[in-house]
Amino acid sequence: MRAQPKASHFIDGDYVEDTDGTPFESVYSLTGETIARLHEATPAIIERAMAAAARAQKEWATWAPVARARVLHKAAEIIRERNQALSELETLDTAKPLQETLVADATSGADAIEWFSSIAATMGGSSVPLGGDFVYTVREPLGVCVGIGAWNYPMQIACWKSAPALACGNAMVFKPSEMTPLTALKLAEIYMEAGAPKGLFNVVQGMGRTGAALTTHAATAKVSLTGSVQTGANVFKAAAGGMRHVTMELGGKSPILVFDDADLENAISGAILGNFYSAGQICSNGTRVFVQEGIKDRFLERLAERAATIRMGDPMDPAIHMGPLISKAQHEKVMGYIETGRSEGARLVCGGHVPTIEGFADAPFVAATVFADVTDDMTIAREEIFGPVMSVLTFETEAEAVARANGTPFGLAAGVFTSDVTRAHRVAGALDAGITWINTYNLTPVEAPFGGVKESGFGRENGHAAIEFYSQLKTIHVGLTPVESPY
Ligand code: NAP
Repeated sequence: MRAQPKASHFIDGDYVEDTDGTPFESVYSLTGETIARLHEATPAIIERAMAAAARAQKEWATWAPVARARVLHKAAEIIRERNQALSELETLDTAKPLQETLVADATSGADAIEWFSSIAATMGGSSVPLGGDFVYTVREPLGVCVGIGAWNYPMQIACWKSAPALACGNAMVFKPSEMTPLTALKLAEIYMEAGAPKGLFNVVQGMGRTGAALTTHAATAKVSLTGSVQTGANVFKAAAGGMRHVTMELGGKSPILVFDDADLENAISGAILGNFYSAGQICSNGTRVFVQEGIKDRFLERLAERAATIRMGDPMDPAIHMGPLISKAQHEKVMGYIETGRSEGARLVCGGHVPTIEGFADAPFVAATVFADVTDDMTIAREEIFGPVMSVLTFETEAEAVARANGTPFGLAAGVFTSDVTRAHRVAGALDAGITWINTYNLTPVEAPFGGVKESGFGRENGHAAIEFYSQLKTIHVGLTPVESPY
C-alpha cells in the first residue's frame, strides 16, 4: 500500500492505532487500488483526542501571541517545502489532477496558516470610554474546536479550519472524510514539527458517527463542518444541544449570469473553470449558467469548442486537466443526473458519456458535460450534482435573471459577467449569495471571507471575519468611582 500512514490517528503529538475500530480503506479511484488501510476511532480514541486537545489548549492560550504566530508561520513554511509530496498524496487520495493539487490544495492551506499567523500576533480587544468608568474587551479562545471535513479539498479544509482556530488560541480535533483520510495526518505532523504543543491539533478517523460523537462531546466548544446541507442540518441540531458554536460550509447550486455585453471568452473561462475544475466537485461551482438570449448560440458554440480541449486521463500526469471522480458511487450519482437531464428534456451540447481512457477502462471518469435549454424546474437545475455537469439557461431581462438566480434554497456563491460597471455592482448586490464574483469566478484568496447564506451555511472562513467564529468577546467594566448604592 503506497500511502499507508504509520497509524490511523494522530493524537497528543504522535500516531496512534486502535485496531478495535472498524477497518476502512482509502482507494485511489483511478486504479481501484487500496492505498491505505485505517481504523475508525473507537470511543477510547475519541476520549484520548479530546483530553489531549483540552490539555494543549490550556497551555497554548498562555503563550505569547508572537510565539503562537511563530509556530503557525513555521508550519506554513514546511507545507510549502513539502508541496510536491503533499500534492501527490492529495492526488492519490482524491484523484484530482496534480496540475491542480500543486497549486490549489496544500499551497492554499499554507496561505491560510501564514495569514492567520499574523492574526495570532496582532489580535486584540478594544476599549470603550464611559466618561469616568471605562470598558475594555478581551478576545478569548472558545476552547476545543472540532473540524469535520469533506472529501473534495481535504488538506485545504483541514488548514482553513485549523488556521483561524489555532490563531485564536484554540485546540482542534479534526475528522477528515473517510474517503480522504491522509493529508490531515501530514498536517498534524507538520504542526508538531513547527513547535506546537502536543495535542494542539489531533486527527481522528471515521465515518459520520465519529463526527457525531465529536460534535456532542462534553469538551467540544465549537464545530466547523464542511459538507452537504443534510449533514449540516444534523450537525447544527446536535451542536445546539450544548449551545456550541458552529461554522457550516455547505453545498450550493450557484448561478453565473452572463449579459450580452460581457467579454464572451472571459465569461466562458469563468463558466468552464467554475464547472469542470476538480471534475466539478466544488461546492461553489456555478452550475446554473444564465446566458442572455441574444448571445446564447455563440456562447454554446465556443463553450463546446473549448470543453473539447479538456485533457482527461491519469491525474499524476501534469499535462492532464481532469481526472476521474472520487469514487464509483459518486460516478453513479453523476451519471444518474445526466440521465435525468436527458429524460426531462434538456439538450446535450457536449459530454454526457463515460470517456474511454486507455489503461483505465474501469475508472470513474465523466466527460465534461453541458446541457442547454435547461429550465428552472428541471432536476439538474435544482439539485447539487457535484460532478462536471453544467446547465445553461437563457434569460431576457436583468430583473428576470436575478429573480431566477435567487430561486433556490442555496446561497453559497454567484457570478456576474458584464462590461456595464453599474449593472455589475447592482446585480452583485441583488444576488442571494455569501460571495459574488464580478467578471471572474471561484477565486478564494485567504484574505477574503468565504461562506454561504440561506441553506448553504452559517459563519465565515478566511479573512478577518473568521476571527468572530473562533473566539468570543469578554467585556470588562472598570469602575473608577465608588459604587452608588441607595441602601
Ligand atoms: P457529507 O456527506 O455531508 O460529509 C461531510 C463530513 O461530515 C464527512 O466527514 C462525514 O463523514 C461527516 N458526517 C456525516 N454525517 C455526520 C454527522 N451526523 N455528524 C457529524 N459528521 C458527519 O459531504 P461530502 O460528501 O463529504 O462532501 C460533499 C459536500 O460538501 C457537498 O455538498 C459540497 O457542496 C460540500 N462542500 C462544501 C464546501 C463549502 O466550503 N461550502 C466545500 C467543500 C464541500 P463521512 O463522509 O466520513 O462518513
